[in-house]
Amino acid sequence: MSKRRFAKEKMYRLAQARIEILWKQALQESKKRPDIARKQMLSARKIAQRARIKIPREVNRRVCKECGTILIPGDTCRVRIRHNRSKHVVVTCTECGNVKRYYSTMTRSQA
Ligand SMILES: [Zn+2]
Repeated sequence: MSKRRFAKEKMYRLAQARIEILWKQALQESKKRPDIARKQMLSARKIAQRARIKIPREVNRRVCKECGTILIPGDTCRVRIRHNRSKHVVVTCTECGNVKRYYSTMTRSQA
């Protein structure tokens, strides 16, 4: 393993750790200070882009791609299950109106 590659992997790990911390903080802030939570999630997204890593699926699913709002069913998002052609879940962000669709057969979580 070259030195450069080693540095890259270290960067990935750091970025992942930072995203995880930001996500946990944003979750805690989301009720009291949603604007701060939103900024945290937007910066987590930027970190992920810069490090070219993926945001964990369970995090990605719960954050609006457009405005960074943490999606809480009945609070900051609307969740509907639709059946045209295939069953899918529609999640609408009530902050900016962005719509997410999940064509997933998994029923474990809908958020
Ligand atoms: Zn939004």
